[in-house]
Amino acid sequence: MKRSGGSPTVALNAKGIRMREEGVDILSFAAGEPDFDTPEAVKAAAIEAIRNNDTHYTSAAGTTALRRRIARKLREENGIEVSEDGIIVTPGAKPALFAAMMCFLEEGDECLVLTPAYPSYRSGILMAGASYVPVPLRFEDGFRVTREMLEEKVTERSKMLIVCNPCNPTGHVLTAQELRDIADFALAHDLLLIADEIYEKLLYDGRTHLSLGAVPEIRDRVITLNGLSKSAAMTGWRIGYSASDPALARVMLKLQQNSLNCTAAFTQTASIAAFDCAEETEAMRRSYLERRDLICDGLNAIPGVTCPRAEGAFYAFFRVDYRGMSAEELADHILEKAGVLVVPGTAFGEGGEGCIRMSFAADRASLEEAVRRLGQLFG
Ligand code: PMP
Ligand code: GLU
Repeated sequence: MKRSGGSPTVALNAKGIRMREEGVDILSFAAGEPDFDTPEAVKAAAIEAIRNNDTHYTSAAGTTALRRRIARKLREENGIEVSEDGIIVTPGAKPALFAAMMCFLEEGDECLVLTPAYPSYRSGILMAGASYVPVPLRFEDGFRVTREMLEEKVTERSKMLIVCNPCNPTGHVLTAQELRDIADFALAHDLLLIADEIYEKLLYDGRTHLSLGAVPEIRDRVITLNGLSKSAAMTGWRIGYSASDPALARVMLKLQQNSLNCTAAFTQTASIAAFDCAEETEAMRRSYLERRDLICDGLNAIPGVTCPRAEGAFYAFFRVDYRGMSAEELADHILEKAGVLVVPGTAFGEGGEGCIRMSFAADRASLEEAVRRLGQLFG
């Protein structure tokens, strides 16, 4: 615990909430969280489940009905062949991520992470006692992954590679070539792969989602993470899952049995309905797309700001060239002078210097106002 920090994204979100409670007029784009309500069908199913006294422990891995529904979803939508024995339902995707790192990493192991990356990867690796090895991707290259970059960082101690696709914070979506390169690399070096696919439904400009767990040669070494936080606007419900070879799931189940026990019963029951909410998810995606364009067009019109269009997820990850300021200095300056809360790119590790992350899962009026204030600040 001494080697690892807290989560900067969670901490900054809390800071925004606190400032607002104290009456400070700020606009917060720190947290990545859908601004939609959970679909009605899911809410109704939860109320019914409580009325039916669906309020006891479930089996540690999750209810059979939900695990079967997840297995069907993975087969039909992702091409991942997994039985219900390979699925563990967790309170959000984060505990599934944490379990995978705690169960398969130990002192002496190295875990590769494509950066800029979700900060909890680094923290979990360090908590497990392993070494964090960033593979920095380049802003100028659109954060493209190549086999050479991966080969440069691999050693005989490398045990695992974590891939977030679509990526938080960069918005990069893996192409078929990148997917192939990662798969070949994992096979050549006998690595476990964590595929964090929590943003899979939020893709733009005709892109398609490709799952590492669907590549036949590596399917037994991929732990796919997903959940309903983003796809069904259910962050507070805490529903996520891991899908893997049953042999890996049996190991992670030991941690679940001894720590969380199980995910809340009625939320599991209600979640089944969320897998049939494709229309609601698509409406959310279209709305995020409009807001992506609003924020990118607005920011790119400001001198010194370069904001690539996110290929997926709901973050603008942009570079600001202003008086030689670092990412930290920029974020502080933006909060202090413009009252806009953003995350410095360095919170996501190597490759984030000079960059700022802003969630565009926020109402249009706030986004427009933020662009106006940033224009005044940097213009
Ligand atoms: N992975 C990534 C990349 C995320 O952005 C998030 C959302 N914070 C999570 C995992 C965790 O999701 P959940 O809220 O379901 O725990
Ligand atoms: N997905 C969010 C983010 O990246 C929530 C915070 C977190 O889980 O770290 O901001």
